[in-house]
Amino acid sequence: MRVPLLDLTAQFRPIRDEVLAVITRVCDAQQFILGAEVDAFEKEMAALLGVRHAVGVSSGTDALLAAMMALGIGPGDEVVTTTYSFFATAGCVSRLGARPVFVDIDPVTFNLDPQRTIDAITPRTKAIIPVHLYGQSAELDPILAAAAARGIHVIEDAAQAIGTTYRDRLVGGFGAFGCFSFFPSKNLGAFGDAGLVTSNDDALAERVRLMRGHGMQPKYYHRMIGGNFRIDALQAAVLRVKAPYLAGWTAARRRNAARYRALFAEAGLTEVGLPVEHDHGYHIYNQFVIRVPERDALRAHLTAQGVGTEVYYPVPFHEQECFRDLGYAPGAFPHAEAAARETLALPIYGELTDAHLRIVVDAIAAFYAR
Ligand SMILES: *Cc1c(COP(=O)(O)O)cnc(C)c1O
Repeated sequence: MRVPLLDLTAQFRPIRDEVLAVITRVCDAQQFILGAEVDAFEKEMAALLGVRHAVGVSSGTDALLAAMMALGIGPGDEVVTTTYSFFATAGCVSRLGARPVFVDIDPVTFNLDPQRTIDAITPRTKAIIPVHLYGQSAELDPILAAAAARGIHVIEDAAQAIGTTYRDRLVGGFGAFGCFSFFPSKNLGAFGDAGLVTSNDDALAERVRLMRGHGMQPKYYHRMIGGNFRIDALQAAVLRVKAPYLAGWTAARRRNAARYRALFAEAGLTEVGLPVEHDHGYHIYNQFVIRVPERDALRAHLTAQGVGTEVYYPVPFHEQECFRDLGYAPGAFPHAEAAARETLALPIYGELTDAHLRIVVDAIAAFYAR
């Protein structure tokens, strides 16, 4: 039996009829751009995430881009963020002509180190982007306090963290903006690209809403230069069907994470570093990431055994070719560099059975028994 990293067909099967019905509904209405489906989606997402405003956008990347554009981030500005995340977090900063300033991670949680983040602030710092990596919240309190004291904006990259909490509050509403992704591999996945910007600030939410549609209001009068960052009505309709299942799917991921811990303990696999849950949040396990020094050999072994894995991420931002002109030296952020060599994501999706989880752990045990 093979165990893929992710099997979206297993999630789709039980909701197939429901999803096809809403796709048909949108096709019958022929209302593809904004409109009632998107309005209803945004109201439901705001309620789900406990925020005043939710603006549907075309992807998680465009959520970050529109949020930064709404804050007027551009040339001369610095944006402090982790060196260890998906590319969009940093790429959007550079696309706006601002300078990403990278900081190292906490080696235990892989989230950005709050003290190093504060130390990286300069008079040019316009925003800080904490990323809630793998589905666990970053340590926000020190960052929020430092940002508030200096008038710096905080944008949460919550692309991997829908339903994650920090000190009993859902992420996405702590800073100026929260940015979510509905890329199919996220806990709530669209049937293509889609994203969301959240905010509790009425004026900022209005700016992001304008940015999403070329800064246009009223029609053909442009108040600011935005882009086409709109979510498709089809995606909004599909996400409306899937959203009520999210809590159950996340609970299943958490059950699998607990089951992995029990199986690793049972097998006596002390070589494997398991994800560490900090005590101030709800981890949604977008990824279950283990840590092993012999990562590449273990990954090759698992691939040969039919177990799907992935490396999130093999190269930190400061070592990426496209950021060479920022002048970071290899060795600049040793915790992130070690994580890039040692982390490995295992299958964690909710539809995995106990038999699947056993196959994964047995295959890892066989690797260490060689
Ligand atoms: C997925 C992801 C994004 C980008 O989302 P897309 O919808 O793929 O554009 C941004 N940041 C992080 C941390 C992500 O995991």
